[in-house]
Amino acid sequence: MKSRLLFLGPPGAGKGTQAARLCQAHGIKHLSTGDLLRSEVAAGTALGQEAEAVMNRGELVSDALVLAIVESQMKALNGGGWLLDGFPRTVPQAEALDKLLSELQQPIDAVVLLELDDGVLIERLLARGRADDTEAVIRNRLEVYRDKTAPLIDFYKAKGLLTSIEAQGSMDAIAERLEKSFS
Ligand code: AMP
Repeated sequence: MKSRLLFLGPPGAGKGTQAARLCQAHGIKHLSTGDLLRSEVAAGTALGQEAEAVMNRGELVSDALVLAIVESQMKALNGGGWLLDGFPRTVPQAEALDKLLSELQQPIDAVVLLELDDGVLIERLLARGRADDTEAVIRNRLEVYRDKTAPLIDFYKAKGLLTSIEAQGSMDAIAERLEKSFS
């Protein structure tokens, strides 16, 4: 089993659910920048206050802010396995991650792209009902994904790290596809 993983894919593709499940099964750390940011917002920290309005508009918080979070989490792991979910989301974040991982001597084992049609994504996001899941914000998040995050597909393809899986169907079916692509 590969133990340094990265999930890529649009909001609503099921990255969070599948990542949590995979990490539990294999004893690796689930690092979701969205979850970490939401905890900061809930705790009312200065960082959370800075991020909240941006998140509620469906835009991206600054690269510097998420990088600081990822760096401190990663260093605290002391070499154990991890799955990054929702990070990197921009090419500069991916370049900064490369730099951090080469310092830590922990190269990425695999990048998995979860693919799903826009119609299904919007339906799934509306059903979830999070503060940033209203229709206008969802459309904005999909646009941000296309502009800023989708270029990472070619970035990781060029490194020979990318595998794509179809994120359609039941949770179990998707989990099975993921297990196959990681083992
Ligand atoms: P998520 O739970 O991954 O959908 O993230 C929820 C929100 O948190 C996003 O819409 C962004 O506002 C913010 N966020 C999460 N991860 C990142 C990241 N890597 N870079 C910038 N903003 C992020």
